[in-house]
Amino acid sequence: MATNHKFSRRDFIRTGSVGMGALALGSALSSLAASSPQKKLGIALVGLGNYSNGQLAPALQHTQNCYLAGIVTGTPSKAADWAKRYNIPQKNIYNYQNFDEIAHNPDIDIIYVVLPVFLHKEYTIRAAKAGKHVICEKPMALNAGDCEDMIAACKTAGRMLSIGYRLHFEPHNLEVMRLGQQQILGKVTKIDTGNGFTYRGDPNAWRLKKAMAGGGGLMDMGIYSIQGTRYTLGQEPIAIKATQEKTRPDLFKEVDETVFWEMEFPGGFKTTGKSSYNHDWSYLKVDAEHGKFELGPAFGYGGIDGSVNGKPMPYPQIIQQAAQMDDFAQCVRLNKPTRVPGEEGLKDMKVVDAIYRSLDSGKWEKIS
Ligand code: NAD
Repeated sequence: MATNHKFSRRDFIRTGSVGMGALALGSALSSLAASSPQKKLGIALVGLGNYSNGQLAPALQHTQNCYLAGIVTGTPSKAADWAKRYNIPQKNIYNYQNFDEIAHNPDIDIIYVVLPVFLHKEYTIRAAKAGKHVICEKPMALNAGDCEDMIAACKTAGRMLSIGYRLHFEPHNLEVMRLGQQQILGKVTKIDTGNGFTYRGDPNAWRLKKAMAGGGGLMDMGIYSIQGTRYTLGQEPIAIKATQEKTRPDLFKEVDETVFWEMEFPGGFKTTGKSSYNHDWSYLKVDAEHGKFELGPAFGYGGIDGSVNGKPMPYPQIIQQAAQMDDFAQCVRLNKPTRVPGEEGLKDMKVVDAIYRSLDSGKWEKIS
């Protein structure tokens, strides 16, 4: 809806300004600006599991540019509970069978796909075909090829696609991007990063099934280590060599438990990273020519901490998901590129694909 408005405003600027006095134009524009640009965009969450329930819906109570307008769930009791808790009208509640009818619902501007990984591609493409802008959770899809299909589908539909990379809105991580990319302490000379947790969940969960999750700790947690390295350097890796460790093969029958890698960047600079479903890691350590900076915990929803040359970073904790969704809503309103588009998810999945190839071959693999 806001997009339509934006287009009409832009068209108005383009066509209506000809021959119009500056004053009249100014007042016409300010009355337009006063009407719908401030309208909150409606988000529908697809999949009401832990992340939607524990993080996204609560965050949507703190957003300025968007609100929780609808839900898509296969469980009628959840639909009833959420409708009551969040005051969601019946007409904005869908299930997986009637999902495509959302195309006719003007309350929903953005569809947020919060499903197990194997469903990301299908629902992103269906959402775009329904004419909605899309946020898709990480990891973007089962592999890079699927990411490309998702990007193409959104492009064809003329809709924006963003990935749920909340840390691009988190102050400590933003500072690391600044320090590294702008070489504030000189050139980066070393990066080591790890992310993981000790899996104590359901042994039959989708996260442990290769066909549903695409992989284990690497897909779920390692994506943050890969992201952290890429956004510290502001460069794209070209090759990778990985090894893995399995201490609980009974649990991690189909997916990786702990993965270690060395990643090469143009010019030969190498970084180290790791991911795990069996270690509690969350750190990013960087050495530069004239100092050090680090984050730890680096990648969680809150409690993020960091230091520069041993001095604590003075930044607050924020509701990352609220900042992330507000930013995307504003990008949609202004037809401005998101800083975390589908292409960003694709870049990470190319690295992940190369890690799995390296685990199979035992060799360095090109990232392409
Ligand atoms: P979850 O298992 O708690 O929830 C998944 C939801 O999908 C459930 O409500 C389930 O009923 C529904 N679902 C629909 N069809 C399904 C099917 N065929 N099989 C299984 N479930 C089905 O998972 P979650 O932790 O909420 O994760 C969902 C997505 O969010 C994942 O992509 C995950 O990586 C991502 N996530 C992101 C973050 C983050 O910090 N950005 C954090 C947690 C999870």
